Amino acid sequence: MIKKLDVDQPSCIGCGTCWVSNPTLFREDRPNGELKAAATGQIIDDAARLRLIAEGCPTLSIYLIDEAEQIIYPTAEQRAARDQAAEW
Ligand code: SF4
Repeated sequence: MIKKLDVDQPSCIGCGTCWVSNPTLFREDRPNGELKAAATGQIIDDAARLRLIAEGCPTLSIYLIDEAEQIIYPTAEQRAARDQAAEW
């Protein structure tokens, strides 16, 4: 069960897709002056929709977290591949 959302701000490119399409779940943030997304802290009881929302992030920066505080999406392998690609 998905208990909360989080945004990995280092990988977020601030495209706005998440906060425009789901303003109750995401908001704009400007850590260090750079445009990023942040989670509002709200959650919805619809795992399939949350998965679609997370899959809609072009940089896999939206994390779905379960009650054990484990990131269940994207997988550790997906996150590692993303971070490795970003080092190019
Ligand atoms: S969709 Fe992803 S990359 Fe775009 S603002 Fe949201 S978290 Fe950042």
